[in-house]
Amino acid sequence: MIRVVFLGAPGAGKGTQAERISKKYNVPHISTGDILRAAVKEGTELGKLAKSYMDKGELVPDDVIIGIIKERLSQEDVREKGFILDGFPRTLKQAEALDLMLEELGMPLDKVIYLNVDDEEIVKRLLARGREDDTEEVIRRRLKVYREQTAPLIDYYSKKCILVEIYGVGEIEEITKKIEEALGLEG
Ligand code: AMP
Repeated sequence: MIRVVFLGAPGAGKGTQAERISKKYNVPHISTGDILRAAVKEGTELGKLAKSYMDKGELVPDDVIIGIIKERLSQEDVREKGFILDGFPRTLKQAEALDLMLEELGMPLDKVIYLNVDDEEIVKRLLARGREDDTEEVIRRRLKVYREQTAPLIDYYSKKCILVEIYGVGEIEEITKKIEEALGLEG
């Protein structure tokens, strides 16, 4: 059972590492970005709403995101195997809502893995990635939103003594190993 949050700037490698740990240890990978992009593709009401924020590099409203996560965390696979949260929480309000949900479910967080990557490297990676919301203007906005709204979570989880900071530049495999160590997995 793994119950972990991956924290870090856009482009820090949360998705890549979450995917690797998820496959290797058979733990559900829950990416709010992926869920929203799927909704946009399907053209659902959620997708239409989300797109207007995503296109600008803004955050989708807390209530919407919290509702999505609440539903996902109540599913059977999560109860059985735990979860890797990637891209959630992104605000203090989301983090507090998550605490409450996990308390109700009796599934406290093991760890929060903070992938720390230098600013220049982040911009370089995002420009190279070329996702639809990775234009220079949107990237700049997303980084500002990250610094203002998400970075305070580093302190929030640090105070709860569950934060592990990992330097996220280097070989993907080496970073995975460090994450495994932090989570007490064999590798
Ligand atoms: P990501 O793939 O994690 O970079 O997310 C892409 C976009 O989806 C973000 O720029 C936000 O607009 C939106 N998004 C994803 N996760 C969240 C979240 N937890 N809270 C608010 N918006 C989110």
